[in-house]
Amino acid sequence: MRQPELRQDTVEGRWVLISPGRAMRPMPHDEPFLTDEGACPFCEGNEQATPPEKVAWRLPHSPADGPGWRARIVPNRYPAVVQTAIPLSGPQVAAVGTHEVVVECPGHRASSVGLGAAHWHGLMRLARDRVAGMSGDPAHGWVQLFKNAGGAAGASLLHAHMQILSVPVVPHRVESMLERARDLGHCPVCRMVEWERSEKTRMVAEEGGLVAFCPFASGFPHEVWICPVGHQSHWETTPEATLQKMADLLWRVLARLEERLGLFPHNLVWQGAPRHHPLAGHGHWMVRVLPRLNGIAGFEWGTGMLINTVPPEEAAGMLAD
Ligand SMILES: [Zn+2]
Ligand SMILES: [Zn+2]
Repeated sequence: MRQPELRQDTVEGRWVLISPGRAMRPMPHDEPFLTDEGACPFCEGNEQATPPEKVAWRLPHSPADGPGWRARIVPNRYPAVVQTAIPLSGPQVAAVGTHEVVVECPGHRASSVGLGAAHWHGLMRLARDRVAGMSGDPAHGWVQLFKNAGGAAGASLLHAHMQILSVPVVPHRVESMLERARDLGHCPVCRMVEWERSEKTRMVAEEGGLVAFCPFASGFPHEVWICPVGHQSHWETTPEATLQKMADLLWRVLARLEERLGLFPHNLVWQGAPRHHPLAGHGHWMVRVLPRLNGIAGFEWGTGMLINTVPPEEAAGMLAD
């Protein structure tokens, strides 16, 4: 495919411009991924440099806030929200929520993928438990688990980490996806999965009731979605076996991307539905892997239309076994 195409993402209704012939600018991953100087607050042995941990995956008998952990969750030192606030009147809402960091591994490394699938199982279990504990409380309008890896993806520290950030309102994007599914009268993700499974040209893997594929209207080069084949609204309350399969597939996709691209800037985004929302049943959870090899610039901000230089059929060919 050399001719540019416009493709519509049926989950959000947005258009994407797939433009493989567009001259590629130097790839960001040719530049240093991220460098940092001085003591890293996320390294084992430097636990005192972070606020006290909320929860951790620890070796037996290792004390909190000391060495002996595999992954830990700590409050963000520079939170975007506050835990308690004075009430406001008017159109604004006090930004009450929780902002935490999930430190993925004790050693100073930019990616924890090299630690293997078993590490990712434990890591995802830790993050899942934390998110599930928060999303069960209606005070959190939405709880977002995400990862920024590399400066181009918004990270400021090299050491591999994810973040959990909750807000007291349901974000417009989350709400509009639920409304769109309601208005369509069917789940667009279920339908898309069914279509991708029959097309086969963008599939990466299917296992244990989950699929990984490069979506037809990928907005980013090498974008991958991982989601259940059957309709499920909340990733954080999915059965343990499904959670483990999600961790496994995600790890495999990231490992394959790293193998092909080297350390690459990317975002990971977990989406689904707020558990207390009246339209929650319309949500279909997924993990989106968003490599950030192209910038988001003026055209994209003006139109909401992303330009993707790698057709998903090519991306899937590179990722599939
Ligand atoms: Zn470190
Ligand atoms: Zn569905």
